[in-house]
Amino acid sequence: REIEEFRKEKEMKVVQGRGVPKPITSFEETGFPPYLLSTIRAQGFPAPTPIQCQAWPMALSGRDVVAIAQTGSGKTISFALPAMLHINAQPLLAPGDGPIALILAPTRELAVQIQQECTKFGSNSRIRNTAIYGGAPKGPQIRDLQKGVEIVIATPGRLIDMLETQKTNLRRVTYLVMDEADRMLDMGFEPQIRKIVGQIRPDRQTLMFSATWPRDVQRLANDFLNDFIQVNIGSMEL
Ligand code: ADP
Ligand code: MG
Repeated sequence: REIEEFRKEKEMKVVQGRGVPKPITSFEETGFPPYLLSTIRAQGFPAPTPIQCQAWPMALSGRDVVAIAQTGSGKTISFALPAMLHINAQPLLAPGDGPIALILAPTRELAVQIQQECTKFGSNSRIRNTAIYGGAPKGPQIRDLQKGVEIVIATPGRLIDMLETQKTNLRRVTYLVMDEADRMLDMGFEPQIRKIVGQIRPDRQTLMFSATWPRDVQRLANDFLNDFIQVNIGSMEL
């Protein structure tokens, strides 16, 4: 009852899924470790955004998640902070291991932006990251991959290049994010996405974030997510 009212107040609609965890109402309630809570505090964020209130418990429950919310609603840390907890719970990388978390994004600009958030929030942890995107020299990207990074943020084309030339591999990926899924499909990345996801173990956790929920994004979710739960923020028609 109270949860219903909280969701209504936040224009939060959980549109699909059995066993959706209840939303959190404060950063502390997430159970994030001190290194994350202190960085959140340092940002001066007054409270979690509506998408964070619902997506954090969903992602932390280990379920596959679809989250639809408009640009500027705080989606990046909705998936990036649970990625860090996921990584903290995995065995350390061994030499030759690829990333544990893979975040796919449509553009170089977005990949860099996501990387900056991962770096900011990971600064007090052992979690390393790199961004892999086209239109930039490969050397530094290859060096990062070969040193070992727990998080790779990548545009599809350059990642496939790195995979085909065996600069990295996806054998250790257990947390996959497709950010701006609608834009990736608009840009024609579906074949590349299929090729990449086909190399990732099927028992991974998969999260899909998008500003809109058109048919082609629904199809992608049905193909790549397993028994997912979904949250939509705002009064968007479905
Ligand atoms: P989206 O991916 O939904 O477009 P972003 O993750 O890029 O949104 O976030 C937009 C802006 O909001 C960023 O500057 C981010 O730092 C900020 N932000 C994220 N979470 C909060 C919060 N809880 N309170 C205030 N600002 C936030
Ligand atoms: Mg975003």
